[in-house]
Amino acid sequence: MSVIVCSYGEIHLKGANRGYFLRVLMQKIRQALPQGVKAELKDTRILVTNFTETKPVVACLKKIFGLTHIRVCESVNYQTPDDILQYLSKVKISGTFKVEVNRADKTFPLKSPVFAPKCGDAILKNNPQAKVDVQNPDTVVQIEIRHNGLAFVSTGCEHGLGGLPVGTSGRAICLISGGIDSPVAAFMAMKRGLAVDFVHFTTPPYTSELALQKVVSLCEQVNTFGNNGNLYVVPFTEIGSQIQKQCHDQYTITLMRRFMIALAEKIGVAHHADCIFTGENLAQVASQTIQGITSNNFVAQRLPILRPLICFDKNEIIAYAKQIGTYEISILPYEDCCTVFVPSHPTIKPSMSDVLAEEKKLDFDTLVENCYNAVVCKRLQNTSAESSNKPQK
Ligand code: ATP
Ligand code: MG
Repeated sequence: MSVIVCSYGEIHLKGANRGYFLRVLMQKIRQALPQGVKAELKDTRILVTNFTETKPVVACLKKIFGLTHIRVCESVNYQTPDDILQYLSKVKISGTFKVEVNRADKTFPLKSPVFAPKCGDAILKNNPQAKVDVQNPDTVVQIEIRHNGLAFVSTGCEHGLGGLPVGTSGRAICLISGGIDSPVAAFMAMKRGLAVDFVHFTTPPYTSELALQKVVSLCEQVNTFGNNGNLYVVPFTEIGSQIQKQCHDQYTITLMRRFMIALAEKIGVAHHADCIFTGENLAQVASQTIQGITSNNFVAQRLPILRPLICFDKNEIIAYAKQIGTYEISILPYEDCCTVFVPSHPTIKPSMSDVLAEEKKLDFDTLVENCYNAVVCKRLQNTSAESSNKPQK
């Protein structure tokens, strides 16, 4: 019988809390699997059964944070080691191979280094053209000796995402633009076990409905990794215009970022977020010099701002974006709210005192409050959020 055997990683290191992490992991797996497919936790493995096609099931499992390895196996019932050898003598192998034995049942009469060569011999019996190569084999035949006379044999292994199940570390509110970086930042937050809600700033009529739709698609794609986040859309035109009208244009982007953080924090706190995530990346653009980043750091008073991409090269971020399926959406050519207001010569190293002096020209709190009252929760395909559902206060 075919069974997909999954291993988890860091959860092994959790002491008294391991049960909690495993419960969430199992819940995430069951939510993701196609209808009728079963998943059960057995010893330290997760066994997935009751499927006809393996490919779609493996594809689901590869999107679950917490899993490290996914193996499509044949389950072999044995009474003696010979029963396993007999099964192996029927396995078809071409090219080079090596055998790995993992003996969870320590009462199994043969130790792994003794049993592995016997398994190799059994395979060679039926595959005389195959060759053993322990350094660089085409195929690794893995034999897991489990308890109660059960063994799993696989000839391939897929890597899982690693990390921790989404939600086990708390909640984050992620500032998502239509660019390449911020969806990757949201993915990183989820990898470390945070459930993510999204906040996006628009400046209608300068930004279009299509630009917003692109952000919706990005959030929906990020949500496919076991997240159930909402998207809060913030109409930011009034704040952008006031900054442009009343403040020196060198500071436009710096001030816009400060308002964005203030609003993200307010929305985050209302929705039980524990932290704010952004896709900022040191020295990527004028507003992300260390001084630029510092100038928006102290607006948030209740939530920390985390920037997982701070030290990545753009190429590394792009590689992640391609892997998680957001890149092709991100490069669609729609305008972002910041590009509409971006000045020709933004200050590269804003001093805090100058930023605060410029900000004093505005009624910061009233602008934030009015903007917050106009926030809309956008319906995403894979969440249960209602459209036009204002954040709770
Ligand atoms: P990205 O960083 O996502 O590729 P970008 O490069 O256009 O987009 P930056 O100018 O680098 O965006 O902005 C830095 C960060 O500020 C973004 O990663 C995102 O977290 C936040 N941000 C920028 N614009 C917006 C917006 N319109 N709505 C929400 N967050 C935004
Ligand atoms: Mg960026």
